Amino acid sequence: MLGGIEAGGTKFVCIVGSGPDEVSAVERFPTEDPAVTIERAIDFFWRHGPLESLGVASFGPLELRPDSPRYGYITTTPKPGWSGTDLAGAFGRALGIPIGWDTDVNGAALAEWRWGAGRGARSLVYLTIGTGIGGGAVIDGRPLHGLVHPEMGHVSVPRQPDDPFPGSCPFHGDCWEGLASGPALADRFGRKGEELGELTAAAVDLEARYLAAGLRNVIYVLAPERIVIGGGIAELPDLLPALRRRIGAELAGYPDLAEQTEDQFITRPELGDRAGALGALLLAEAALHQR
Ligand code: ZN
Repeated sequence: MLGGIEAGGTKFVCIVGSGPDEVSAVERFPTEDPAVTIERAIDFFWRHGPLESLGVASFGPLELRPDSPRYGYITTTPKPGWSGTDLAGAFGRALGIPIGWDTDVNGAALAEWRWGAGRGARSLVYLTIGTGIGGGAVIDGRPLHGLVHPEMGHVSVPRQPDDPFPGSCPFHGDCWEGLASGPALADRFGRKGEELGELTAAAVDLEARYLAAGLRNVIYVLAPERIVIGGGIAELPDLLPALRRRIGAELAGYPDLAEQTEDQFITRPELGDRAGALGALLLAEAALHQR
């Protein structure tokens, strides 16, 4: 029996099981300060254990290098109170079991690759487009990281000629996230997040152009066989079809791969809002084998 946590900036999802069809318990609760939130998760696993191992797929930035003294920490997050939290360590000490550790988007990428929209692909990118833009990647079954994990939301994209919006990223202004996240859309078009479904066709077209421009970078650098796009903005009506049309223009026939213009190349998640937590189960499974 494995445990998984999707540790998000607004909510935690805790799960016990071994796959999408073998979930014996799940609980969602808001992310409060670290002590309260960690205690609540530990209590859930005590009630539903014992577990063999636990996976944690967390918002970041994270320290993922096993030889670092701060392995398992959330490092310098803008989320108040959470910078320098030893999240993986807190669970390891409380539960006394191996802990798998990676980003929330790498967790979602793993789950979609194994059980969802990425089944059968050797390489997959998972993007979430909501309050920010986050990206994870799985190559041959392994989540991708290096010095740190990828930060795909902060790549540069060319400003569209008809767009005077300065960008909303606190670090870069008009990076991809700064121009195409939910808050950027809401600021630009004067709507609250929950009203974004009423965006005009011109607004959806602008968003599709920015998403296509950023995806071009991702496609040329990582060469994924599949791109899975989740998050609230991906649910905007007509956005995905518009994005698929724009990708053709961005790639301009180079290299001339039929796979990159098929509908399933860019697709919605199949695991819905459970992807991150289910991916955490895969991190738990990997942690068992690494012992
Ligand atoms: Zn940025």
